[in-house]
Amino acid sequence: MKVAVVGTGYVGLVVGACLAETGNDVICADVDAAKVGSLKQNKLPIYEPGLEPMVVRNQRDGRLTFTTSVGEAVERSEVVFIAVGTPPDEDGSADLQHVLAVAGTIGEHMNGPKLVVTKSTVPVGTAERVRAEIAQRTRTPFHVCSNPEFLKEGAAVEDFMKPDRVVVGVDSDEAAKVIEELYAPFVRTGNPLIVMDIPSAEMTKYAANAMLATRISFMNQIARLCEAVGASVTHVRRGIGSDRRIGPAFLFPGPGYGGSCFPKDVKALIRTAADRSVPVDILDAVEKANEAQKQVLFEKLQRHVGDLHQRTIAVWGLAFKAETDDVRESPALVLIEALLCAGAKVQVHDPAAMKSAARHLGSRVTYAEHAYDALDGADAAAGSDARPRNRRRRVPRVPPVRPVACGRSHRRGYGQFPHGDPRQRRAPRRQRPLQGPAPRRLDVHRSPRAVGRRPPLRESGEPDRLS
Ligand code: NAD
Repeated sequence: MKVAVVGTGYVGLVVGACLAETGNDVICADVDAAKVGSLKQNKLPIYEPGLEPMVVRNQRDGRLTFTTSVGEAVERSEVVFIAVGTPPDEDGSADLQHVLAVAGTIGEHMNGPKLVVTKSTVPVGTAERVRAEIAQRTRTPFHVCSNPEFLKEGAAVEDFMKPDRVVVGVDSDEAAKVIEELYAPFVRTGNPLIVMDIPSAEMTKYAANAMLATRISFMNQIARLCEAVGASVTHVRRGIGSDRRIGPAFLFPGPGYGGSCFPKDVKALIRTAADRSVPVDILDAVEKANEAQKQVLFEKLQRHVGDLHQRTIAVWGLAFKAETDDVRESPALVLIEALLCAGAKVQVHDPAAMKSAARHLGSRVTYAEHAYDALDGADAAAGSDARPRNRRRRVPRVPPVRPVACGRSHRRGYGQFPHGDPRQRRAPRRQRPLQGPAPRRLDVHRSPRAVGRRPPLRESGEPDRLS
């Protein structure tokens, strides 16, 4: 099938590459000329596991092309995906200017019947506005369809190739047929393609993100309560997660949700509800709890280090979660800003997001190429994401690093490195004797009584990757 994907961000690029991978003829369009130029040379503007080889392969084989001309992409295609950004407007609602601008361009370039698919996360009623924008400019017949995307950054390719489900909102059989054909390779193993009306599909995406954000805020508050009463949230999480009515996913407490989706989507849903005078107090509370949660690591560091002025703090993890370079709304940046404001010197490390973080932090922090280099001379360290390698990392029991605060309570193991202290391996130096008691690793949500106790031997399942 001939497909155009407009917007080559985290979603558009993944959608385009995966549709090309399954044999479609895909053209991706973006107004960002620098991005398109890089993509043509197989240089990806984002980090996403598995995406680069897919783009390279499909571009080489001629199934995937890039252009700055949205009109050209529309004219060449039977199906047009709109995958541009929908950032929050001043009042919290989704800003639809990019979506509607693309719809206008589609209308101007309707050289034959087409299916226009809204992939961007948009409030109920947007597909109708897209339809109206196009219809103002053409008499050529077309269909609109809502197909919200549920991929998670950090696992986007895998999520798109093997989705839990595909949700499609249509108002015609023709549109449903085209979408079913396009998605057939992705739902071969029986994962459902759920067809519904357009408003329900639009709402499903917001409801999903609001539910996930709610679970996160709920667990973050339970974790704080656990800490206050001397319970271990790790045990509590496992205890409740094994209940089939609850399930184990999205029960890991952390430094607060971030990224380009949850914060803005929760806000947009609150705005939609306010416009309809429908109370959604629960979402107000979710947002409030999340804002408070972003301060927890800072407060913890302050409590344990005291006056942070001129103290050196290491921060591991800059992106809003593991395996991505996306720092949009990252709680780590909130923590770093608070540390800098308090006069601390900050040494950071992230395997994927140093470049994107540098756009926000500039030269105000020191960037460490290696995770352990960030610890050099640090008074304390904070880990703000759940990278699998961070979970396995052992924090040295040698000075100068003293307390280490972590954003995730499920990190196991603290104390000695399993294979020796890599800092000493890389730069042999005289081993200094331990001064005083070994430094404690302080998990934000570990109960004070639980600190120092051996953590559970093995945990099932990976931590959640936030959408
Ligand atoms: P993004 O900001 O990474 O990318 C958007 C792209 O659209 C940019 O490259 C921008 O240059 C381009 N663009 C903007 N206006 C354009 C126009 N008029 N014509 C052509 N290109 C234009 O955004 P994203 O993270 O990919 O998100 C896109 C949409 O998908 C949003 O609505 C988002 O809520 C939704 N979504 C995102 C994720 C995610 O994990 N990032 C997951 C599910 C859904």
